[in-house]
Amino acid sequence: MSRRYEDLSGPELGERLNADSIVLLPIGAVEQHGPHLPLSVDHVIAHEMATAVIDRCGEELDVWQLPTLAVSKSNEHAWSPGTLVLSADTLMRVLLDIARSVASTGVDRFVILNGHGGNTTHFGTALREIRLETGMKTFLMHPSLPPAYGGVSTEEELGMGIHGGRNETSVFMHLRPELVDLAKAERKVPEAIAENTHVKFGGSTSFGWLSNDFDADGYIGDPTGASAEEGKALFEGAVDTLCEAMAEVKTFDFGR
Ligand SMILES: [Zn+2]
Repeated sequence: MSRRYEDLSGPELGERLNADSIVLLPIGAVEQHGPHLPLSVDHVIAHEMATAVIDRCGEELDVWQLPTLAVSKSNEHAWSPGTLVLSADTLMRVLLDIARSVASTGVDRFVILNGHGGNTTHFGTALREIRLETGMKTFLMHPSLPPAYGGVSTEEELGMGIHGGRNETSVFMHLRPELVDLAKAERKVPEAIAENTHVKFGGSTSFGWLSNDFDADGYIGDPTGASAEEGKALFEGAVDTLCEAMAEVKTFDFGR
């Protein structure tokens, strides 16, 4: 049986969704990822990951999948042809509007699955705004935690496989091999930053950046060793982790 929110009729949805249900909103992006990858990377990864999570644990945990929001806050890539950008303000309003509609069905748990690292801080704010306005419990998950926000990337990339790097390229090669041209990939690691103790990705002092601050090609990492095989392992590991997290979302309580 389909667990896509929009595949139900209105009356069916009213009967089947309730305070024990979880609604999952995958969010991607349409933005440049260097010359070796298409614009669709974050959108495809968020969508395929959400679908795999729902297939694995949707029935057991009563999770429903909203249509993937394809465009989000990609202004760090606005310099590039092809990137589509929602402003922070617009995206916040879109999230609040969707969340209000979901809350009206009686659902109490709303989860964002974010495929685009550039949204991460903004979505931290959105979780609180949605909670305050709708009363729903709100959660943010990532296919993998972005390295700029404490996630890991490969040692060869000095932990800076931030955008279009080895892991992301590998996962995308697993999902859409025909859309990847690895012959156009090079090593683009901002080596100088790695020597800093504080002012670095994931360090104690953050910095504002645009993707062409480091290199005109706009990707950050070393995709040259990427492979579909590595991507498959990363993808499947992420589905396991997300289902574990979803089981905790299901029973999460503030303990009052
Ligand atoms: Zn990406």
